[in-house]
Amino acid sequence: MSSSSEFPSFLSPRISPQRDSEIAEDSTGLKPSPSNLDLSLPPTIISPSFTPDTVPSTPVPIPVISTPQPSDGLPDVLPEVECIVRARIPTTSGTEIFLHLYKNNLDNKEHLAIVFGNKIRSKSLDRVREGETELDRMIRGAYVGRLYPGRKTSREDEALQEDDTAKDTGWSQWSLIRLATLVRIHSECYTGETAWSARCDCGEQLDEAARLMSKENDGIVVYLRQEGRGIGLSEKLKAYNLQDLGADTVTANLLLRHPADARSYSLATAILLDLDQTEIRLLTNNPDKIAAVEGKHREIKVHERVPMVPIAWRMNSGGIRSKEVEGYLKTKIERMGHMLDKPL
Ligand SMILES: [Zn+2]
Repeated sequence: MSSSSEFPSFLSPRISPQRDSEIAEDSTGLKPSPSNLDLSLPPTIISPSFTPDTVPSTPVPIPVISTPQPSDGLPDVLPEVECIVRARIPTTSGTEIFLHLYKNNLDNKEHLAIVFGNKIRSKSLDRVREGETELDRMIRGAYVGRLYPGRKTSREDEALQEDDTAKDTGWSQWSLIRLATLVRIHSECYTGETAWSARCDCGEQLDEAARLMSKENDGIVVYLRQEGRGIGLSEKLKAYNLQDLGADTVTANLLLRHPADARSYSLATAILLDLDQTEIRLLTNNPDKIAAVEGKHREIKVHERVPMVPIAWRMNSGGIRSKEVEGYLKTKIERMGHMLDKPL
């Protein structure tokens, strides 16, 4: 089954991210009348905005000590990936991102890299293809700088010259000392990202990753199409019913004869290498993910782990607050070894 067209994003209802402070006062400084407020949705299901001032705190990175990694289950050879198209997406927060869409030789799904900033390039996208025109290159996103009406070449552009000027004024020096790229490996979660589910914190984690990468104007979210820890949406929904019957998230998967976690990260490793990333900082609480993304032959080095602490645990308001998400996080910590300390 091809999942690439299962959930076209245009079908998803749009909810503008809002905060209590935004609701309290609009840009005119006037308190809105109650009739201006859309109170039809409780705040808990409104996705947090990833604008930089939403959550002032910045997580403290933790150095990753190199230890022999368990390579059981990791593939000896990484899959082949190719970025087939890239496009600029202006976002609702004002940050521009570049969506990179990949094909691969493992499955028929459209995995993505969401790239922040304009310094990271895909080797497979930039490769010259036989017989292609300059227009072909621009249409598939293999251009430097920015597109504008009437642009004729993918290679030379005023924006490129601006980049050169920037280098002369110290950007090249800055790039030498810049930190390893901040990366999040994120698995698709239709329920948490689109259907406002408070059973998990996937939507919040995606927003938080985007917020931190917007702040640095640099970073990559590798977005893997492996719904429900790899078991697919229909099986995930059955697991939710089993959870309502009393099972936790791990037991529910096992009762359905699925592994507790069927995800694989070799595609993420291959995509990161295509984006020329060999040393990264990884946003995760999951130690297995660090070992998996580094690859069997340590093709990538995770320098630091940047923890993802739920907003509800570190802020007095906001974040996802439900008994379901508390149970989900408890199971992640107690049964899946996630490195997360719940504040008492
Ligand atoms: Zn989720």
